[in-house]
Amino acid sequence: MSDERYITETLFDELGFRMSFAAERIVFQGKGDLQSLVLFENKRFGRMLMLDGATQVTTADEFIYSEMMSHVPILAHGSCEDVLIVGGGDCLIAEEVLKHEGVRHCVQVEIDKAVLDFSKEYFLEWNRPFFEDKRVESVIADGMHYVADRRNHGRFDVIIVDSTDPQGPGAVLFSREFYEGAKSCLKGGGIMVTQNGVPFFQPEELSSTIGIWRELFSDPYAYIAAIPTYVGGHMTMGFATDDKALRAIPLSTLEERFRSAKLSTRYYTPEVHKAAFALPRFILDLVEKARGKS
Ligand code: SAM
Repeated sequence: MSDERYITETLFDELGFRMSFAAERIVFQGKGDLQSLVLFENKRFGRMLMLDGATQVTTADEFIYSEMMSHVPILAHGSCEDVLIVGGGDCLIAEEVLKHEGVRHCVQVEIDKAVLDFSKEYFLEWNRPFFEDKRVESVIADGMHYVADRRNHGRFDVIIVDSTDPQGPGAVLFSREFYEGAKSCLKGGGIMVTQNGVPFFQPEELSSTIGIWRELFSDPYAYIAAIPTYVGGHMTMGFATDDKALRAIPLSTLEERFRSAKLSTRYYTPEVHKAAFALPRFILDLVEKARGKS
């Protein structure tokens, strides 16, 4: 191996698996208020952010995750006006949400101000709308406290939990208490989507979430996307609603909504949206078992 500096992802240490990225340049390395941050540049993945040893975002493939975490729930909903993002410190999901003219208000609740300041300084080329759009309300707080606050109940059509993995400050965002609070923040007919890991490596992350949701929502489900830096095959996004039809919107309807939203995308298409809910057997088994339907 050449003497370039390699930055290693340690998220899967307990599985005996690490992934290293050659750092052409280390832009920042240090401890934020709550997490250790590393920002560096890699030949293939561009600018990469790691928090506590876990890859968060790369400028080369973030479009896949950001588009699928935003356009799927918003276009499935059909008349989304108020969006809550929990986490999302790189502000790249917010950038996609703000492409929807029908969205009146986008609240982002990020716990670590260092990540936000960081993202403004180093990702502005990609997330500028977050810092300039009047529809944005940026809150520095623990998402758990925000959803527990009754003043936020019944306010949102779509909730996007763009969290870190269930470690450190992110752990609470996978708890029953958080999901109960988030459910209270949804309006009737609302949709919550969550970053729920790669089932090939983290099956319990998905089954635990679905298992909690089955007592809170009538239709706890998931969808998938293939994201290069979230290694291990498909990444799953949790999809929680009280209406099963919301995960089976007819293709013609999605096409109509996509057309009128005038979105420019690089991964999302209405066909990909539909296909994302066709879960591979081992993931479907995980979901059905957690739903109590095995
Ligand atoms: N796309 C990334 C992924 O899939 O792992 C996540 C991106 S974003 C950087 C994750 C954000 O969640 C971080 O900025 C982190 O500070 C924030 N976060 C972690 N725990 C949180 C909490 N309890 N409340 C609000 N934000 C939290």
